[in-house]
This record gives sequence, C-alpha cells and structure tokens, in this order.
Amino acid sequence: MKNNKVIILGLIAVLLIAIGLTLIFYVSSTFKINGENPITISYKTDYKDKGATFKNIFGDFTKRIKTYNYVKTDKIGDYKVDYYAKFAGIKIHKSRLVSVADKNSPVITFSGGDLLKVCPNKTYNMDDFTAIDDVDGDLTDNVKVYKEEDKMVYSVSDKSGNSTVIHRDYFLGDNENPVIELKGESLISLSIGEKYFEQGYTVTDNCFDLRDKVVVTDNIDNTKAGSYAVTYSVTDDSGNTTKIERTVNVKPSTTEKKPSAADNPGTPGVIYFTFDDGPSGSGSTAKILDTLKKYNIKATFFVTGSGPDDLIKREYEEGHKIAAHTYTHDYSKVYSSVDGYFNDLNLVNARIKKITGTETNIIRFPGGSNNTVSNKYNKGIMNTLTKEVTARGYIYFDWNVDASDAFNCAKKTVKDKETCVYKNVIGGLSKKKTNVVLMHDIKGYSANVLEKIIIYALDNGYSFQTISENTKQIKFK
Ligand code: ZN
Repeated sequence: MKNNKVIILGLIAVLLIAIGLTLIFYVSSTFKINGENPITISYKTDYKDKGATFKNIFGDFTKRIKTYNYVKTDKIGDYKVDYYAKFAGIKIHKSRLVSVADKNSPVITFSGGDLLKVCPNKTYNMDDFTAIDDVDGDLTDNVKVYKEEDKMVYSVSDKSGNSTVIHRDYFLGDNENPVIELKGESLISLSIGEKYFEQGYTVTDNCFDLRDKVVVTDNIDNTKAGSYAVTYSVTDDSGNTTKIERTVNVKPSTTEKKPSAADNPGTPGVIYFTFDDGPSGSGSTAKILDTLKKYNIKATFFVTGSGPDDLIKREYEEGHKIAAHTYTHDYSKVYSSVDGYFNDLNLVNARIKKITGTETNIIRFPGGSNNTVSNKYNKGIMNTLTKEVTARGYIYFDWNVDASDAFNCAKKTVKDKETCVYKNVIGGLSKKKTNVVLMHDIKGYSANVLEKIIIYALDNGYSFQTISENTKQIKFK
C-alpha cells in the first residue's frame, strides 16, 4: 500500500513537472516576425523577406524556423510568407501579409523634346508623346491634352489611380535657321583654266521645304590664281537665314610642261608596224596575227567599224595595240564637219571599248593628217581637226614608211604586188630613225609578204614596238 502511494505520488510529481515545463516554455517563448507586417511593395521590385526569430528560456531556436515564401512580384496581389517553429513536438505558426501593388505613375515622354514647338505653317497634331505605365503598359490613348494659360497640359492615370500631370512649355513660331550641307569638299583646288564643277548641297529646315530656295553664287575667275568663294544662302518663310561658303583656290600654273610625244626624240632603229582599215574576216588579218605571233612581234592596229569583233579581241589579247582609225571610212561623212568627224571617231572608240574594255587616245586620220580629199567636203578642215583632236587629248599618228599597199601597189598594172609592198617597206626603213610603217591588214598580199619583211628587219638589227603615248609622234602637219 505504502509503495503504491509512493509510485502514484511520484507519477503526479513527474506530470506536474512536465506541465510546469510546458507552461514555462509557453510563457517564456517569443516568436516574432522581423520587419513590417503587413507590407506593401512595388510591382516588379525585389522582395527580400526579413524572416522571424524564435527564442525562449531554453535558448534561441531561430535556426529551426521553416519559412515558406509565396510572394510573386511580377503579379499584382496579396501574398503570404509562412513561418513554422517546432519545440518539444509542439508547432507554432505565424504569417506575414505581403501586398504587391502598382505604386508608380505612368511616364510621359516627348519625342520632340520637352519644349513644344509648333511651326507657323503647321498645326499641333498631339502625336509627339507616349505614356507608358509599368503595370498597365501603353496608356498614350488615355492622355488628356489641353491648354492652360501658357502651358500645354498632359494628364493620365493608371488603373491603380497613380496619375501623372505634365505642364509643358510651348512656342508657336519658327526661330530655327535652315541647315545647308555641301556635297563634296568644302575646299576645292583648280589649276588655271580648269573649270569649276558644282557638286551641289542638301538643305533641311524644321518647318519648310527649301530645296528650290537656295541661291548659289560665285566669283570664280579661273584665268587668275587666287582664292574664291561659292556662296550658298537660303532664307525660310519665317525669315531665318543661313549662308555658307565653299572655297575654291585657283593655283598658279607651274612652268613645267609634261613631255609630249612630239618632243620625244624616239629610238632609232625601231619599227612600228601599223595596220589600217581592219579587221578583215577574209583571212588577211588572221594571217598577219599568225606571222606576228611566230616572231613574237607586237604591232599597232588602227581599226574601223567593219570586220569581226573576234579579230580585234584576238589582236588585243595577243598584246597588240588597238588604236582608232575611223568607223565608216567614208570621207564624205568623216570630213563633213568637226562634229561629223568626232561622231565617227566616238563610234569606233566605243567599239574598241566594248570589245577590249579599254580606251585609247591614239588615232590615225583616214588619208593622213595632210590629206586633200577632205577639202572636197569641208575646205581646210584638217587644220581645224589636227588642233581639235590634240586639244581633246588625242595623239594622231601619220607614218614615215609607206607600203603603199592600198595605193600604188594596189593598181591593176602591178603584177607582183607582194614584191611591190616589200620594196616600198624595205626602201623606207632606216636605222637612223623611228620607223612608223603604214600597211593595211585588209590586203592579202601585205599579209603574205609580212614574214619576208620581218626576216629582213631582224637580219638588219631592227627591233619592234607598239605605238603608245610615249612614242615619238610622226605627223605630217
Ligand atoms: Zn584607212
């Protein structure tokens, strides 16, 4: 009996101690949420939860807190953060309320700048701004625009009631100068006599189209060295003026003269084979090319508008010089007038350019520069043409060895035409001069006898070249 009583009393004592400890645990416990609760944060801003602390008489149990954070900052709404503390099998729970809200006002931006300018020739279209809200997006269409005394007012609110009101200064009128920009360099150098070429400009204005309003003037005298100005000036309809200049310096001419073909003493003993009137598709041009190839000699072909393109191409590709003779070889056209001459020359030059891709300034007049046939069509035209072609940058070549293969040797009475041509050429060659030999590649007998002429020239120590700008100019007048 006594023993049972002791056991029961002991159990009661243990129970009382347990109850006591639990009471002490509860009474002494502090479970606290750190920082604000509830809290409101801005949409799409970082949320860093400050957590909670849990302590009692037995110690600090903060580390044992389990936290569950449900906050989503990219969505407007109310969220919870839950904290759970556990001690001796007992759970305690607290939570924080976090509201994600639209706290920011819409932002109004002006594309034309903070000061509103309205041109006198335009009306304000109210289309130079945007209103963007971080939550509601584009609110431009909701913006109310109205005038208030000397300001333009722009007002807008987002769905959460955040509003923006801007009082914008405005200016009705135009006080901006037009802008002229030069095309090309603003400093140009010319030689005396060189023509000034206007490269133009662009003009822009905040209000008006002034493309036809720019006045360009200059005081250039290209016959005198000096510094000159080209002036560009424009005034818009509001009276704003812009004036700019381009400087043109005319340089004094240097006394040094470019050496010309006429001044060139030439190289004695050189033969320039020149073949006129081709190409010919009859075989004579091809035969001449074969012979020249055999001896690796380069010649000059003064071509016309007739014959196959392929032969000119072959001449060019095999290293011969392609020069211009005439397109039609019709004296009545070529020598009808200066224009008539150059029209014909331009045609043959265009053919050369088309076939070879290169241009030439080496020419030969039909009949030579001293021909008298031309007088029949335009008296004295050769005097004009010889000066005019030179002024236009061409170099004309006559000849000083004449095969006469289109004249004397071509006559019916001459039976052995090849010997005739051979004698004429051999008889004209000299080691003391440069030899510009006139032949015609449209003549079969000239093609046939060419090899014999070459063998003679080689045996006698001649060398061969093509005509270029640097060749001593052989001319009759
Ligand atoms: Zn000719």
